[in-house]
Amino acid sequence: MPLDFWFSPWVLGLLGLCIGSFLNVVVYRLPLRMELEWLSDSGEFLQDEAMLARTLQPDAKRKAEIGAFGKRLVADCQAHPAPGLARPRSRCPSCGHLITWYENIPVLSWLMLKARCSACKTRISARYPLVEAATGALFAAVAWQFGATPATAVYCLAIALLLAAALIDLDTTLLPDTLTFPIAGLGLLAAWMGWTAVSLPHAALGLMFGYFSLWSVATLFKLLRGRQGMAEGDFRLLAGLGALLGWQQLLPIILLSSAVGALVGGYMVLVKSHNREVPIPFGPYLAGGGLAALFFGQLLLALMLPTLLPQ
Ligand SMILES: [Zn+2]
Repeated sequence: MPLDFWFSPWVLGLLGLCIGSFLNVVVYRLPLRMELEWLSDSGEFLQDEAMLARTLQPDAKRKAEIGAFGKRLVADCQAHPAPGLARPRSRCPSCGHLITWYENIPVLSWLMLKARCSACKTRISARYPLVEAATGALFAAVAWQFGATPATAVYCLAIALLLAAALIDLDTTLLPDTLTFPIAGLGLLAAWMGWTAVSLPHAALGLMFGYFSLWSVATLFKLLRGRQGMAEGDFRLLAGLGALLGWQQLLPIILLSSAVGALVGGYMVLVKSHNREVPIPFGPYLAGGGLAALFFGQLLLALMLPTLLPQ
């Protein structure tokens, strides 16, 4: 088979549907794995007598209580083993019905099952087929725009990481380093190998400016308002996007994600009476801005620069 076949929008679109199905599993299981690991580590930490002596300096009775609690926490975690990312096979979260291969075909199965579990008839969220369809469409769009080049492989991989990071942030407000660091690594590697149009200095500057631009905004916000607006994960995600797309694209990404984020945030607070003290995850907006810059970066820059620079 010629390379053009494997990198055609049809083939990559179908691959994207399957990757999207896997992303749905990752989005559910990766934060669960992280949280169980933290709980287990906390249990181990509570049993560290030297640490307790340095910090709380509890009396013997209190020390024994804390240690016993830590021990129970570790035992609880061992009773709830974290699922692997690829195995075991998925089950219905309501009735535990093991999902068969023909109930696991991207988009089609959800339509054929009429959005209900075949065993217990509990509704299956429309988000699953939407994530699959979006991944398929984005992979096809990358193939369409970049053709049979290494850039297509780089951007498809980056899109998978971005989508998983954005959805996990939306669900849990966590932005795992296991997803944001690979985006940065992939960007630097692609620039170094000449796989994308971004040069290595531009990728390296993108990494640094991406991190420190958001870090300075967040630090300033914290000084002025006395609370955390954005977190470390957001800085790392924008650093990854800067490394992947080059420092020039940071401007459209930041402007787009802040504008859309402010609109949605305002809507949530005013219309949905969202508590303004509860942070709204910023990762999905950064990821959306990154996708816009990936496909329309040159156009966005051409539109934005003349309005920002004096004539
Ligand atoms: Zn069920």
